[in-house]
Amino acid sequence: THHVHIIGGGLAGSEAAWQLARRGYRVRLSEMRGGGDSTPAHQTDGLAELVCSNSFRSDDDERNAVGLLHHEMRRLDSLVMRAGEVARVPAGSAMAVDRDVFSAEVETALAEHPNVTIVRERIDELPARGSTIVATGPLTAQALAESIVRATGQDRLAFFDAIAPIIHRDSIDMDVCWFQSRWNKGDGKDYINCPMDKDQYLAFHQGLLDGEKIAFKEWEADTPYFEGCMPIEVMAARGVDTLRYGPMKPVGLDDPRTGRWPYAVVQLRQDNKLGTLWNMVGFQTKLKHGAQVELFRTIPGLENAEFARLGGLHRNTFLNSPLVLDRQLRLRGGEHVRFAGQITGCEGYVESSAVGIMAGLMTAAEIAGTGWTPPPRSTAMGALLAHITGDAEAETFQPMNVNFGLFPPLHDVKKKARKEAYTNRAKADFGAWLESVVCVPA
Ligand code: FAD
Repeated sequence: THHVHIIGGGLAGSEAAWQLARRGYRVRLSEMRGGGDSTPAHQTDGLAELVCSNSFRSDDDERNAVGLLHHEMRRLDSLVMRAGEVARVPAGSAMAVDRDVFSAEVETALAEHPNVTIVRERIDELPARGSTIVATGPLTAQALAESIVRATGQDRLAFFDAIAPIIHRDSIDMDVCWFQSRWNKGDGKDYINCPMDKDQYLAFHQGLLDGEKIAFKEWEADTPYFEGCMPIEVMAARGVDTLRYGPMKPVGLDDPRTGRWPYAVVQLRQDNKLGTLWNMVGFQTKLKHGAQVELFRTIPGLENAEFARLGGLHRNTFLNSPLVLDRQLRLRGGEHVRFAGQITGCEGYVESSAVGIMAGLMTAAEIAGTGWTPPPRSTAMGALLAHITGDAEAETFQPMNVNFGLFPPLHDVKKKARKEAYTNRAKADFGAWLESVVCVPA
């Protein structure tokens, strides 16, 4: 009785369900959490749980590719953007959310929609027939992952993402730390800053190198890191100043006690709406838990820090999409199955959601018999889709964040004006393309 079976109620699956339901198609949404299963990173049974950072990154749609993606998603009535607005917490020019409010908003919208049936069940086999969207994410359960491998004939790749610790606000020493966003962006005080002098920084750097790390299993040993999620200790190992040019960069931050920029800084970003939890920006780590507590309490202002969550290590499962999927995200040789979300080889909450939207729209167009026109490559959605469905090199395929490097280049535009030129072109092209999308019934 359902038009479409969606497996996985994460970011992508929720978006796909929303797009289909809003167009009048009935969806069965199978989510294993809440049915006796979980993943190594999820902590709740809620749909669209954010497993690590609470940020959807830049919301600047004039100069930033992910901000542009936000813009395009909003024009498609994205459920993630909708719920994100409701759950929004201050984060300068970034869009950050209270993760519990966000997940509850997504779940309520779907649960209340008459076309959506949420079933708490784990699916172990790719369905043999029937329109299906697989959106089981980077932590796809084992049996289904094996079923996918049997169907694709390709070995899936695996590597590790590291997540950053979260600290209770009332355990931070505000006589040492201060509120300020770099260069006073946003409302000027969205981050908590922990300053370090040179000796403290050098000792901390050494501590990262010496700290006991979680060992890699042999078969994981040479799986590459994704740059955006590189563990802090791996960065530290690249050189003594690498962190001072990365997440610990001290520029644009005036320590009220000295009136000057510190030698290095650890920044904390608000993690929940109440403002009681703050995450350590860029501090993804595979240090052992005991070593994390010991070392991070040497950071000025964090001597008595209480951790709501420590950093950790997690699997990431994704397909070699350029080889195994067609331009409509369908499995080659099993075209009733579409993939969506991080498992297609995009990277990030926003990107996964965007691919979920597209999988929903493609499926809707297929059922309606209207045919599918992909968004132009000059748009954020089009660029991302083109990359994962064939433009990327299959041999070196790695999960990809949206970025202007995926867009058809604008060499003639002066470098200073180029970002605006990309977004202006994208917005115009996206508007024209929107007319081809099967519209939402009033
Ligand atoms: P998910 O949101 O994971 O949703 C998949 C859903 O499928 C889950 O709810 C799962 O329970 C369910 N499921 C799995 N197998 C089955 C099955 N067999 N049957 C039924 N249900 C099943 N991105 C960022 O932008 N920022 C970050 O900070 C960030 N940190 C990350 C940290 C970790 C540890 C990991 C693993 C990933 C991180 N990512 C991050 C990457 C990625 O953006 C997120 O994982 C994102 O949630 C992916 O969306 P998705 O919908 O593809 O998968």
